[in-house]
Amino acid sequence: MREFDYLCIGAGSGGIASANRASMHGQKVALVEARHVGGTCVNVGCVPKKAMWFGAQVAEAIHRYAPDYGFDVQVNKFDWSTLVASREAYIKRIHGSYDRVLGNNGVTVINGFAKFVDANTVEVNGEQIRAKHILIATGGRPTIPSIPGAELGIDSDGFFALTEQPKRVLVLGAGYIAVELAGVLHSLGSETHLAVRKHAPLRNFDPMLSETLVEIMAEDGPTLHTNSTPKSIEKQTDGSLVVSFENGNSLQVDSVIWAIGREPANDKINLEGIGVETDERGYIKVDEYSNTNVAGVYAVGDNIGKVELTPVAVKAGRLLSERLFNGQTKAKMDYDLIPTVVFSHPAIGTIGLTEPEAIAQYGEDKVKVYNSSFGAMYTAVTQHRQVTKMKLICAGEDQKVVGLHGIGLGMDEILQGFGVAMKMGATKADFDACVAIHPTSAEEFVTLR
Ligand code: FAD
Ligand code: NDP
Repeated sequence: MREFDYLCIGAGSGGIASANRASMHGQKVALVEARHVGGTCVNVGCVPKKAMWFGAQVAEAIHRYAPDYGFDVQVNKFDWSTLVASREAYIKRIHGSYDRVLGNNGVTVINGFAKFVDANTVEVNGEQIRAKHILIATGGRPTIPSIPGAELGIDSDGFFALTEQPKRVLVLGAGYIAVELAGVLHSLGSETHLAVRKHAPLRNFDPMLSETLVEIMAEDGPTLHTNSTPKSIEKQTDGSLVVSFENGNSLQVDSVIWAIGREPANDKINLEGIGVETDERGYIKVDEYSNTNVAGVYAVGDNIGKVELTPVAVKAGRLLSERLFNGQTKAKMDYDLIPTVVFSHPAIGTIGLTEPEAIAQYGEDKVKVYNSSFGAMYTAVTQHRQVTKMKLICAGEDQKVVGLHGIGLGMDEILQGFGVAMKMGATKADFDACVAIHPTSAEEFVTLR
């Protein structure tokens, strides 16, 4: 029987990061992957999504802004399959680079589906493999509801498998994925509808962000349908799909994309058999050190129901290896103040408390909110103006910055540095002490009154 010091189930963001770090600390490591190395992020998540988003940015530059910058651009066509081919070639290069790094680190990559036999043994392709420590980094998968005809829709994995651009498309859902995919499809020229169950997408974000996104969608698209809970999907004789909503409305489109959340991929690995506890939604219960209730078995990433972001899975995976194999006995993931970007049109960047959360935590009289709204300069010199909005939320006597939110061009790249400042405990005075960079959008955050 093959034996390892450490075995990671799942070669996604968390598993790869943890495996590499463990091997750098001299451990004999195995990494088991059922599908493609790189997991969700590289194959059907962040990476292909961002490539499509860049494609959408190019489309917007050509169609909305180029004429006023003096370019007389004639676009004969947009070829979806060329963008997809460029994207997939890039992903292939990432696979190659992962293979090289894992190989250089001496990690044994095993292709197959791992299932627990006992707390120190998994079975892969009929072979039993033992390890002193086992990490479960199995990630998640898209949720599909159980309404009639739901299977006629595709999910985000299906979106990335599209070889042709849908002419008319309906995206169902109200979170990151729904907003991002609807934005990309719209900017690339599909007639795009986004249907949300309540009054707006991104309801859990600061109200300024979701309200502004709704305003911008009203001007620039995609077409937003609020208070629209899907009831059924029916295929027509011409192959199109009719989606009926509980409010009595219906929409006819060529493609329907479900983006209503994800669920953990923990159900087929025999967790019950080895006694690993999960919550009522199937997420693995872990303590702050990524330990499950079973000694020697750990979990990080999308399957623990905390924050479903690649850098979170990566950091948690690395910290676990530092703790287990490099004597850093106190190393643990800090889930406070995690910056995050929605690659909407324009991008949303957010970190810390929303205004309602800050008021609930500190009391209204202890919270001071600074707002800014202006036309993004890139668009201000064109006919097609677009607003940028920013908000800083400060709390307490010293006006510590506890929330920072923005929607506008460049927000995706602006956020990271402000995240560092907030992790260091920056106050409004610290922000003001930094000289602005002019002319930028980011300078607003250090000149707010
Ligand atoms: P995964 O990356 O999902 O990896 C899990 C791996 O385990 C998979 O490869 C799977 O095949 C494998 N596996 C599962 N079960 C077994 C088994 N029993 N045996 C062997 N292998 C198994 N995050 C961001 O930070 N930024 C973004 O822009 C972003 N965009 C996203 C866009 C989309 C469309 C989606 C779906 C997600 C996006 N995310 C983004 C989220 C990000 O992809 C996840 O948070 C991240 O991939 C989680 O990493 P993980 O290691 O937990 O799981
Ligand atoms: P989210 O959990 O972000 O959003 C899903 C939303 O869909 C819910 O909040 C809900 O909103 C709505 N919804 C739920 N059930 C239904 C239903 N039956 N019918 C209609 N609408 C429904 O999930 P996503 O799938 O968008 O993304 C999963 C996670 O992946 C994200 O939370 C994020 O952590 C990560 N991700 C990160 C990205 C990034 O960093 N840029 C990009 C993509 C994903 P409501 O209650 O308002 O109806």
